[in-house]
Amino acid sequence: MSHPVTYYCPHCETVVELQREGYLDDKSVTPYPLEGWNYVSAREDYGADDADGVRFVCGEDGSTRDPEADGCGRAFYLSFVRHGTTAAGQALGRRE
Ligand SMILES: [Zn+2]
Repeated sequence: MSHPVTYYCPHCETVVELQREGYLDDKSVTPYPLEGWNYVSAREDYGADDADGVRFVCGEDGSTRDPEADGCGRAFYLSFVRHGTTAAGQALGRRE
């Protein structure tokens, strides 16, 4: 089941929102991509197996929670943690 999850743009603190599946946990939101990670846009299938995260373009990709929000037009990156793949992911899994 998916549910809305919100994130803050690290540049201007505009709130963006994604529909997320419960089995994904978030690693971090950063103003730059992590090396070697595969990011897709908020309009693509970010739940796909080969997506490691989401590349937002603040205010320009339709992801802002408030449709009136302008955003800053800069990119930022949400990186996922998948359960069991990293120590951090396993720790998150135990908490649920
Ligand atoms: Zn912004």
